[in-house]
Amino acid sequence: MPMIPVASPRSAGRLDVIAGPMFSGKSEELMRRVRRAKIAGVKVLVLSHSLDTRSDLSAITSHDGINIPAVPVGDVESLAEVARADDFDLVAIDEAQFFGPDLVPTVFELVERGATVIVEGLCVTFDGGPFEPMPTFMAVAEDVLKLTAVCTICGRDAVFHQRVGTPGFIAEDSEPRATDIDASHIGGLESYVARCREHFAPPR
Ligand SMILES: [Zn+2]
Repeated sequence: MPMIPVASPRSAGRLDVIAGPMFSGKSEELMRRVRRAKIAGVKVLVLSHSLDTRSDLSAITSHDGINIPAVPVGDVESLAEVARADDFDLVAIDEAQFFGPDLVPTVFELVERGATVIVEGLCVTFDGGPFEPMPTFMAVAEDVLKLTAVCTICGRDAVFHQRVGTPGFIAEDSEPRATDIDASHIGGLESYVARCREHFAPPR
């Protein structure tokens, strides 16, 4: 009898990426996929960074206020611990930029263990540079969805977001670095706006 190769249930998984600037609907897309997986009976784990203060700590929340249950974790180590605790079929990571480049090996490990991992996050900083670890994930993912926002000046596709009118900026050297991991980076309409290439004016 010929040997028929059969994929074991825990053969390597896959990496899917949802990337874009702020206001591009990344969290909504992540939630849509998670909802579908739950309907399909897939064992899902949703992880968010506990720095994300837009919502209570047990849900990821999009700018329009829709939320789904998530496990808040403070760093990559805690994330790995929660994700390794069970054989999840789908691990969804919200706002992955908060975890920094250390997230990369952990995600690769989860994928090698057989999970489908969806990494969602900002791929661009507010001064228009690449925002790790998302560019690294985009390079090696099975699938990448790159979303754009809508420029609040002209309505064209916006691949950038920029800070506007933040009070308290006195000295130039007091300005936060573009990759600063702080809750204000996901604040909302009061401190960031979506900008197309023409209307984007990065800080000098
Ligand atoms: Zn514009």
